[in-house]
Amino acid sequence: MDHSLVCQRCGAHHDPGSYPRGCPNCRTAGEDGRLEVVMSDLDEVDFPSVDHSDRSMWRYRELLPLLGDEPITLGEGWTPVLDLDLGTPCPVHLKNETGNPTWSYKDRLNALLISNMTSLGHAHFVTSSTGNHGASTAAYATRAGAQETVVLLHPDADLPHQVQLRAYGAKVARASDSGRTALLRSLVEHGWYPSVNVTETYTGIPYTTEGYKTISFELVEQLETPPSVMICAIGAGDGLYGVWKGFRELASMGVIDEPPRMVGVQPAERPSVVRAFDRDALMVEPTPGPMPIATSTSGPSAGDHTLRALRESDGIALGIEREAIRDAIIATGRAGVFIEPASAMTVAAVGQLLKRDDLTPDDRVVCLGTGAGVKWPAKTGALIGEVPSVDDTVASLVNTLDIDPTAPERTTT
Ligand SMILES: [Zn+2]
Repeated sequence: MDHSLVCQRCGAHHDPGSYPRGCPNCRTAGEDGRLEVVMSDLDEVDFPSVDHSDRSMWRYRELLPLLGDEPITLGEGWTPVLDLDLGTPCPVHLKNETGNPTWSYKDRLNALLISNMTSLGHAHFVTSSTGNHGASTAAYATRAGAQETVVLLHPDADLPHQVQLRAYGAKVARASDSGRTALLRSLVEHGWYPSVNVTETYTGIPYTTEGYKTISFELVEQLETPPSVMICAIGAGDGLYGVWKGFRELASMGVIDEPPRMVGVQPAERPSVVRAFDRDALMVEPTPGPMPIATSTSGPSAGDHTLRALRESDGIALGIEREAIRDAIIATGRAGVFIEPASAMTVAAVGQLLKRDDLTPDDRVVCLGTGAGVKWPAKTGALIGEVPSVDDTVASLVNTLDIDPTAPERTTT
C-alpha cells in the first residue's frame, strides 16, 4: 500500500525515505520534527483478506509500508495469546512476544525497518540499546547482508545479550548513556544508519512504529472481541504508540469501533510519562532517578507522541514499584511464561487498575509481554532468589524443598 511521511510538527509531506533525523524542513529551521507514516486508502481495505497461510506478521504485508519487493524475515509475529488468572472481573490475556525470533517484540520493528533501509542501500547500521533492541537490529541486519553493525550497549546489559549480539556478528561495546548518544551521533554523521532516535527532541526513526501495528492486527484476529484495555510498557514510547496506531487504523478500516484505552507503564523510579500525563503537560521531560530493575524501560525520558496515544484513547500512565514487578514475574511464571521485568510491569498494572475500580466485567484486558526473562539473569535472579544446594540424601532434599517424598494423590479443593 502506498504511504507518505507526514511531519507531526510542521505538517510537511515527504516521499518515503530514510530521514534518520526526522523532518528535513524542520531541521533547516533548527527544530526536530517527527515523521509519521500515513497509509493511503485505508478505508478501501478489506481487512479479512490477509494471507492466512503466512503465520508471521507478514500476513498483513498489504497493510505495511514495505519499500522493497520482499521483506527480510526470520518469521516474526503471530505470537500466542494466553489467559491470565489475576482475580479480575474480566478476562485478562498476555500477548506473549517472547516467542519472536530474538525473544522480544523488537523483531517487528526491525524486520520492517531493516527491510526498508537495506532496500534503500544502507549497509552499515548502528544502534544504542539496553539489549533487546540491539540484538534484534543485529539479527535482521546480518540476515539482510549488512556490511557492519555496531551496537552500543547500556552498562547494565546482562551477559546473554552480549553473547547473543556477538553470535549475530555485531561489533559490540558498552558505554555510558552520554557516551552512547555522542558515539551514535558521530557514526550517523559518517553515514551509518541508526535504528534509534538521534535528535535532541525525540523524533524517532520513520517506520519504527509500523511493525508494532501488527500486534493490534493479530489481537483482533485472535480474540473473540477486541481488547478494551491495552497495557504496554514505555521505553521511548514507540511500542505503545505503534500498537495504538494499529488499532486506530483498524478503526479507519471499520474493523473495530474504536481503539482500546491505552495504559502506559513505567518503572516508579523514572516516571517521565506518568508525570507529564498527570500534569497535562505537552512534552515529556527527563525524569532521572535510581536505576530500575526494569532495565529495558530505564531511559529517563520518552517521546511526546506517547502522551497523544494515552490522551486520545482516554488512557492512563502508571508507575510500577519493584515489589509489584517481582510478584508479576512470579504470577506470569505460574502461567507458564517467564517474562522480563519491563513486561511484568504490564501484568502488575492490572492490580493497580483493580484498586482504582477501573475494570468492569465488560472489559477485556491485554498485557503486552514484550521480552523474555531468560535474557536478564542478574536482574530476575535478584528478584526471585538463588537456588539452594542439597546433599545426596532424600532427607536433605525433603527438608530443603519442603516436599512430601511419597507423592500423595492429587488433592482437590
Ligand atoms: Zn517538519
